[in-house]
Amino acid sequence: MGLSKRLLDKDLTFKCPHCQATLVRKGSWIKSITWFTCDRCQQNLRLGYGEKLAIFERFREQRQGTN
Ligand SMILES: [Zn+2]
Repeated sequence: MGLSKRLLDKDLTFKCPHCQATLVRKGSWIKSITWFTCDRCQQNLRLGYGEKLAIFERFREQRQGTN
């Protein structure tokens, strides 16, 4: 488990916890950052390891049955 290397070059989606905008970033970006600025609300937000795991998990679940 953990942050799968197979997803590092994939476009993963997650929601800004501040404005609920849907953001799209590469898995490698998500893995390497801790703080980011939301495109829409310009808030500086923290992305913890647990949240990163949830983003990767959600992507895997969405792909089940299509691959
Ligand atoms: Zn936002």
